[in-house]
Order: sequence, then structure tokens, then C-alpha cells
Amino acid sequence: MRVTNLNPADTIGASAWLVETGGHNILLDAGTAPGIEGGKGLPLYSQVADVDMEAVAISHCHQDHCGSLPVALRHFPRARALMTEPSYFLIERVLHNSVNVMKRQRVEQGVSDYPLYHHGEVDELSYLFQGFKYGKVEPWGVLSPKTSGSSSPTVSFHHAGHVLGSAGLRIAHEKESLFYTGDVCFHDQTLSPKADFEGISADVLLMETTRGSTETPPGFTREAELRRLICSIRDGLAGEGGVLVPIFALGRTQEILAAIALAMQSGELNRQPVYIGGLGRVFTEIYDLVSARAPNLRPDLNLHEALDLQVLEARKMEQLNLKGKLFVITAGMMSEHTMSHELTVRMAPEECHSILFVGYSAPDTPAGALRAAAQGAPFTFSPSAGQLVRHCHMDSFDLSAHANREELVDFAVGIDPRTVILGHGEPEARDWIEAELRERLPRLNILQPAPGETLKV
Ligand SMILES: [Zn+2]
Ligand SMILES: [Zn+2]
Repeated sequence: MRVTNLNPADTIGASAWLVETGGHNILLDAGTAPGIEGGKGLPLYSQVADVDMEAVAISHCHQDHCGSLPVALRHFPRARALMTEPSYFLIERVLHNSVNVMKRQRVEQGVSDYPLYHHGEVDELSYLFQGFKYGKVEPWGVLSPKTSGSSSPTVSFHHAGHVLGSAGLRIAHEKESLFYTGDVCFHDQTLSPKADFEGISADVLLMETTRGSTETPPGFTREAELRRLICSIRDGLAGEGGVLVPIFALGRTQEILAAIALAMQSGELNRQPVYIGGLGRVFTEIYDLVSARAPNLRPDLNLHEALDLQVLEARKMEQLNLKGKLFVITAGMMSEHTMSHELTVRMAPEECHSILFVGYSAPDTPAGALRAAAQGAPFTFSPSAGQLVRHCHMDSFDLSAHANREELVDFAVGIDPRTVILGHGEPEARDWIEAELRERLPRLNILQPAPGETLKV
């Protein structure tokens, strides 16, 4: 078996792994690298242009895993795109939205090679998309004279607990097997139960390492962190100000809305409208419709029925009185021209408002700049907004949808593979996981392939 890392960056970057087994080729994920503009953020497809790719399997519908799927299918015209059923319901929305975002960035930031694909291309390729039930074992190899006499390799999808539709992918061919975690969460969230990787075996384990450099504080529980968030929302709404939770539209939004809905049902929060963005509304609608097709801790909780969701329109935002209003709105990184960016320009300078972070913000984004800013000191928020002085209340809550590092190490030890490949993390995160694994399994072969590197495993 051979595995090639097609991530163009040595950081989290864009997920894309070529797996070759018995003369067959499959691409695992086709992401784009967040924060790297234009074609430079694409996986290294041109390096493998001669490969006869038979399938592309997508672990889940976040940009860093699926954002370049149309480009991959352009490179590999014989491939079909395999994913879970819930991802099948999400993928076209996600790709059309990234066309919109790229078109906007072309105009606003002058990125001349955007968009990397067009709406028409997403529509034209959609007949190649196929959704599968969790656990289904699907053959994907195209049998030809070259490979005749052998059977097709298979892929199966295993609930990864990260976001609606997310899966770990198991590739098997004759005596060989590889398991790719995708993004994985080993603890329950409000809606999504933890990953179900029970009984998985693999010779090669390809693992994400997002939280490899994040320490887990002693006594930390997600429940306590969620209580703290609900209390902060309640306190923030009780005063003269409003509360902003800047958030990603797919996954985080629905998990936080579910927690808010439960707090309103139990009386911890007063019932009141929740302002969301247009894209957040679309994904929330799909969550409500598709929840029965995926593992779900609260199958009876319909977010649209449980909450008074109001879509905030950009043109009405300026007149809006913010007092007592609750915004759960994109973008999580507060990129320019998004609702959370515009609201922050109004809210950050005033003491009465609260801004509550529930996810990661890259340091070089407006959200990263705000989080690093000391109270009362001027800081540069973004090129368009310039300098701000933060007086508002600000707090962060660790409600990650990724496994913590100890859980990742325990999982790898439990699988006891021949080889572990570490990816989808910053270098120091991968190094921490590698050091732990070396101590626990001294004979294990542990690899960290560089961008473009092929491993024989
Ligand atoms: Zn993800
Ligand atoms: Zn990811």
C-alpha cells in the first residue's frame, strides 16, 4: 500500500490523501487550505495528474476536507465521489457557498484565480456524488485487464462524532487495510454522539492531530463548559447590551443552537428570538431534516420548532438596536464583510455588550486579533475596520468538536496498527502525539509525511 500526502502545507491545511492498493487508487478527502488564498490552497493534484483515480471518498463537509472536490473531479475524470448519506444532503450547499465566497474574495481581495470552480460545474458534477449508510461496505475499484483476477477494494463509513455526516473511512483490499479518522470527536456533543469506531481494525492508521498541542485542564468537562456559556449568555442579555457568538455555519451553529434550545426549555434562559445568518439557517434546516439518518442524541429536538430563529439581513443590521439581542452568527473567524465582523465593529467598543467565542480562531484573522487585544487598548481589527478599542465583555469556551490528544493516543494504542501516519495538525501537535505513541508502543512505525511525500506502508 502507498499513501501520498497531498496537503500543500505543513500545517492543518487541506486534507487530501492518495491511497494506492493493489493497482487501485482512491483519494481520501479533497479539501482547501483555510487561510491560503487562491490555487496555492489546493491539494497537490498536479503532482498526481497521471494517476487513474477511481474514487474520491469524503470524510465530511467542512471546507478543509471537501472544498476542492470539483477541482479533484476535473483532474480525475473517471472518479466518482463517495460520502455518507447526511453528507450527500450537505455537499452541494457547501460547494455552492464556497463559489459565492470565492467570487466575493476575488472582488474584495483581488484574488485573481478565484473562483476555483463555478456554480455550473458543481451542478454538472453532482451526478457523481453518492451517499452511503454508516457501516455499508462499498466496492470502489474499477476492474480492468490490468487488475483482473483480483477483487475490488472497498470503503466503509464509520460515525466520527464531529459534525453531521462525518465519518472515519476504512479502506480494505485483500489482506491490507487502512483506517482514516477524518476529523473525529471521542466525546458526546449536544446533538452528535461520540465517534463509533468500535471493532475497527487496520494495518495502517491515518490520524488527525488537530488538538495535539492543546492541554486538557484537569477536571475539564464539556457539561461544565456549556453551563458557563449559558450563564454568560444569560448575564449578557440581562444588562443593556447584546450577545454575539461568532460561529461556523455548519456543525458548531447547530450544536450551540441545540444547547440554547435546551436551556430555554429548562428555564435557564428566557425564551427570546435567536438571530442567525442565512447560511446557518440553511444548514440548520438540513440538520432538522436529516437528523434521523445519522446518530443523534436528541432525535426529537427540531431546532426550527424549538427556537424562534430570525435570519439577520445585512441591510437591516445598521438600524438594529442591539440591546437584549442574541446573535449566533458567522463567521467564526470574523472575516471581513461577514455579519460577525460588522457586529463586532459596533459591539467591541461598548462595555455593555458580550462577545463569546466557542471555537478556534486563527491568530491572523480579525477574531484572532480581537482575542489577543487587551481591554481598553487599541488594536487593528481588520483592514476595512482599522483600529478598535475593546471595552466589551469577552470570553472563550472550549466546546471543541475534535478529540482531545489523550483520546487520540488511546485510540491508536487500542487499534495497535503496524504504521501510524500523523496529519491534519500543526507540527508541534503531531510531534506531541508522536512522542506519546513512541512511549506507549515502542515498536510502532510512526510517520509524518511532508507535503507531496509518498510513503510505502
Ligand atoms: Zn471538520
Ligand atoms: Zn478538518
